[in-house]
Amino acid sequence: MANIQAVIITIGDELLIGQTIDTNSAWIAQRLNEQGIDVVRRVAVGDTRDAILTAMDEEWLKASLIILTGGLGPTSDDITKPLLCEYFGGTLKVDERVLEHLKDIFSKRNRPVLERNLKQAEVPDNCKVLFNLMGTAPGMWFVKNGKIVISLPGVPNEMKHIMQEEALPRLKETFKSDLIIHRNIFTAGEGESNIAEKIQDIEAILPAHIKLAFLPDGGFVRLRLTGRGVDLKSLTSELETHQKAIADRLGKIVVSLEDHPIEQILGESARKNGLTIGLAESCTGGYIGHYVTQVAGASAYFMGSIVSYDNKVKEQVLAVKPETLSTYGAVSEETVREMVTGALRVLNVDYALAVSGVLGPDGGTDRVKVGTVWMAVANKQETITKEFRFYYDRERNKEMAAKNGMLFLWKFMNGKL
Ligand code: AMP
Ligand code: MG
Repeated sequence: MANIQAVIITIGDELLIGQTIDTNSAWIAQRLNEQGIDVVRRVAVGDTRDAILTAMDEEWLKASLIILTGGLGPTSDDITKPLLCEYFGGTLKVDERVLEHLKDIFSKRNRPVLERNLKQAEVPDNCKVLFNLMGTAPGMWFVKNGKIVISLPGVPNEMKHIMQEEALPRLKETFKSDLIIHRNIFTAGEGESNIAEKIQDIEAILPAHIKLAFLPDGGFVRLRLTGRGVDLKSLTSELETHQKAIADRLGKIVVSLEDHPIEQILGESARKNGLTIGLAESCTGGYIGHYVTQVAGASAYFMGSIVSYDNKVKEQVLAVKPETLSTYGAVSEETVREMVTGALRVLNVDYALAVSGVLGPDGGTDRVKVGTVWMAVANKQETITKEFRFYYDRERNKEMAAKNGMLFLWKFMNGKL
């Protein structure tokens, strides 16, 4: 079955100057993909009549579904609604339900309704209103010559709400598409070229309806299998057979078969085994703690991070010996060994990770080059240390240190070191 082709048009000057990052398109594309709708193009345009109309004219020819976000606010730079009304030959009329909702919002916030706010209750009389419970700008659903155009506000939580509650269920009813499902293999420790070499023969025999993508990200590579078909059960079993074949071939470098970030994989491992974890962070300044606490429910296993950036904190809180610091330096195997011991004790945890490094651009010496990060993992019986070297700018080095640190701890906890 040929799939529905969709285009996403995001509207807003802020997107073009890079002030706002277009997260709406990515989210919408993921949701459409789940419903078997192919996004064939993503376009960003400014808040001008000309730009929006040109984009509509051009994309109209290619797509059977266009989703627009942005330009629905109450200010003069928001022009999407009257433009679409004109484009589809309608007239703006007050929608009573939207008007009631608007008045209600303003009275709850104890604010007077301005004329410009009342205008938000006006909708083209040739569209279906997609009610916006989260805000004041309603979404709109137009149909012309069998094609669908959906206009949504730019504010991400309002856009998501309308998509989920109103647009996606309607799209499901309207378009019967092929199913698209994904299976993942999350690996760490080898580059994508090496991985590709190792599984060349498996990749070569994949049928046309199953595609394999390599998604490298700083020491990690995600392999994503995408299958397209009509029968969920047989497609799932087919994909999982290939997933298993690849995972078996790659062996030790496979971290997970789920598409989860490393902080979640680490958290699941701690939770499942009833273990507590803690951190002593120097160069990452609490960044690993930030990642770990991105996972809902982290309080069940995460006790805390001691941000021991300055040597005094390493000494006073973690009991790192002054001689160790003066003899070997803060970025050394000896120091992280004592840091991790301190973290185990102070945080009273089953497993700890300690990190100390030079992220750059300054601070490197002949002995400790920029990008060097020493890490130690420990439980009450054993401590293992490892030297990492990263070759990027400060921000990326920090990111790499955090992710590799979590991986290091996960491997230790799972007997994979
Ligand atoms: P608008 O509907 O144009 O009034 O958009 C309101 C706000 O939503 C903007 O100020 C942006 O902060 C945000 N926004 C607009 N478009 C996007 C987008 N594509 N991705 C993420 N945020 C957006
Ligand atoms: Mg705008």
